Amino acid sequence: MSMVQHENAYANAQRQFDIAADILNLDIGYRKLLRVPHREFTVNFPVKMDNGQIEMFTGYRVQHNLTRGPAKGGIRYHPATDIDEVRALAMLMSWKCAVVNIPYGGAKGAVVVDPALLSLGELERLTRRYATEISWLIGPDRDIPAPDIGTNQQIMAWIMDTYSMHRGHTVPAVVTGKPINIGGSYGRNEATARGLVYVLREACERANISIAGSKVVIQGYGNVGGTSARLLTDMGAKIVGISDRGGGIANAKGINLEQLQKHYESTGSVAHMPGCDEISNPELLELPCDILIPAAIENQITRLNADRIKARVVIEAANGPTTPDADAILFDRGVLVIPDILANAGGVTVSYFEWVQGLQEFFWTEREVNAQLERIMVNSFETVHAVAQERRTQLRTAAYLLAVDRTANAYAVRGIYP
Ligand code: NAD
Repeated sequence: MSMVQHENAYANAQRQFDIAADILNLDIGYRKLLRVPHREFTVNFPVKMDNGQIEMFTGYRVQHNLTRGPAKGGIRYHPATDIDEVRALAMLMSWKCAVVNIPYGGAKGAVVVDPALLSLGELERLTRRYATEISWLIGPDRDIPAPDIGTNQQIMAWIMDTYSMHRGHTVPAVVTGKPINIGGSYGRNEATARGLVYVLREACERANISIAGSKVVIQGYGNVGGTSARLLTDMGAKIVGISDRGGGIANAKGINLEQLQKHYESTGSVAHMPGCDEISNPELLELPCDILIPAAIENQITRLNADRIKARVVIEAANGPTTPDADAILFDRGVLVIPDILANAGGVTVSYFEWVQGLQEFFWTEREVNAQLERIMVNSFETVHAVAQERRTQLRTAAYLLAVDRTANAYAVRGIYP
């Protein structure tokens, strides 16, 4: 990823906000206020490497908005991340939490590092130092981090432990996405895909598309892409194309997921699966299908390929996979796009459940988690759909309208201090 793409991510996030602000006729004061992050923190910090040398690393934590509750958002470890990417993702988190109406503002953090190049010990020291550097910003009632690209539940456990050591007592609710045995929630791992499938089911019902028998293409075979493939196959859909960083495969008769998993475990990629056609990631996006799920990275559907997307429904598991130009093209062509801030909000929703369980020290069964998730995702889809009908907009614009309106209203009722 280049700098330019990151600048675009922030510019795109602001552009998307402006569209909603225009339609809402948002007061110029609130517009200026919500267009920029509330707090931005950059830290350059040392880590002692295994060879005894000191290396310097750069980390960020950006809080876009704190009006509806404590800030919430993941921490990314990636060599090409920068402040603009973090700003864009923090803003997206504010809108996502507002769309599903959970009591959080938006934040995001990052460290510029390729975690694959560090030993486990180096990764732990880096994480504990970064957690210490941002510890005056985070806390169960201030800002609650979670995993994102390059981080996982082990890293959340180290952050929780570091914060707890500083406080002198265990504080499970300071992060979400923790391992189950130290306060993680049942259902968290599958939550994003499960939430996505609940929303897809509602959208397809209204569009008269049957999921059973439908042809599905998925970009990405990670947590969200892989789990979505399994859940949709269980509902009778056929996965006709899937890909990962290593390349893609297609099979119009449907890909056998058990064989695929075995192949993936032995080779580390879905590519070169026997009995399937080899395709590139760009080709994958243009396969004939009913439902396309980008579940990998941003900026995949652009003005250059939007004309050739054949799916009837695009549901965004990834954050920002469709550029605003492509969005307009798909809308004109009658392709239903279900936006990221609604479609992948199941993850932050179950993070919210994990936080609630941690604060109450009372833990739910997986069945309870899934039932509450379904309730929130279905209600959120219905509300966004109703706004889209009323305002005659696409779902993305409707989701932004709802989110920006809820956030601005929270400001209005709280007032501008002092
Ligand atoms: P993951 O790391 O588990 O999987 C990512 C997948 O994308 C892998 O299969 C990887 O090989 C593939 N990929 C990476 N770069 C690619 C490329 N250039 N072309 C094609 N494939 C590529 O990540 P995940 O947790 O499944 O997240 C996927 C997307 O969903 C991300 O955009 C993430 O921000 C978003 N998301 C995830 C969650 C969550 O709870 N996991 C929640 C909200 C949004």
